[in-house]
Amino acid sequence: MFIFKNKERNMVQFEWKIRRKCLDLILECAKSNFPNEFGGLLRVDDDIKDVISELVILPGTISGDSHAIFKMHMLPIDFSIVGTVHSHPSPSANPSDADLHLFRKHGRIHIIAANPFNKDSWRAYDHNGEEIEIKVI
Ligand SMILES: [Zn+2]
Repeated sequence: MFIFKNKERNMVQFEWKIRRKCLDLILECAKSNFPNEFGGLLRVDDDIKDVISELVILPGTISGDSHAIFKMHMLPIDFSIVGTVHSHPSPSANPSDADLHLFRKHGRIHIIAANPFNKDSWRAYDHNGEEIEIKVI
């Protein structure tokens, strides 16, 4: 019974990947918007549904020195968009209460890039705010 449960868990587990180019662009945008926050959306490949390959910057996304506000009503109907990304001017990549609220409402995967916006200062979360691993490819 126990083994069966584990098997079941593995089956629903989803392994996320992100293209290095896309991650570099995210970190670059975070850097260039500093000390303001930057926000965007994550899009997957058309064919490979678990590979995040594109950063989409929303028109009218407000970035200020508080949290970036996502204008989700401006979101195009696009099922290749799987989640959000935003930067934290602080060194903490932990989601705030507002972030968790956003995560629960929209998308399945969320990236926070924290200061100094390098390959070690970002984290990914699922819709419950649980940290998840993304493989950089
Ligand atoms: Zn945040």
